[in-house]
Amino acid sequence: MTLPQDSNLLSERPAKPKSGSGKTARTTGAERLRQLVRVDETPVGRGVFARRKLKAGMVLGEIQGEIFPVEPEDPSYCMELPSGRVLEPTAPLRFLNHSCDPNCELFYWFDEDGSLQEDRLWLQTIRSINAGDELLIDYCWPADAAIPCRCGVPGCRGWIVDPEELHLLASRERPQTTARDTGESVPQLPSDSSRS
Ligand SMILES: [Zn+2]
Repeated sequence: MTLPQDSNLLSERPAKPKSGSGKTARTTGAERLRQLVRVDETPVGRGVFARRKLKAGMVLGEIQGEIFPVEPEDPSYCMELPSGRVLEPTAPLRFLNHSCDPNCELFYWFDEDGSLQEDRLWLQTIRSINAGDELLIDYCWPADAAIPCRCGVPGCRGWIVDPEELHLLASRERPQTTARDTGESVPQLPSDSSRS
């Protein structure tokens, strides 16, 4: 299995910052995240919004959730981990929506010894985000999982798809709608079990 969103993930980060006991660090992280973002309604369902201005390159927190060895029956909302296992996020980051011009991205850390943290994903801002703006990531789905995109940004690919696989959809009829999707596109990052 490969990472459908790997072209959008940072391949490297500095060593993970030192923290106290796991439980304390994790609680603090969740608490901090709640101070930074909130969940609210959007035209496509729930979304994640900034409570205050967020700086570019800011690590917002770890994606918390349940890890499955393989894709669950309902892969809605799931994100594939570097290990190939699948993470189903809990709120608030469960509700991150897609944009072809995202202001946030997922990444993974390397430990101080250089080993990849295989079962953890984190979220950071790409650029500064104003209070009240929605946090958006690029789902970068493989072509065989692509659905029409109606994010509405200039340069929208027309599909929720990895830019490197957009050419594979050239023969498909391009969606004509420009308004944001009204229910078809649920916020999800399906893992790609069919790509070799
Ligand atoms: Zn788009």
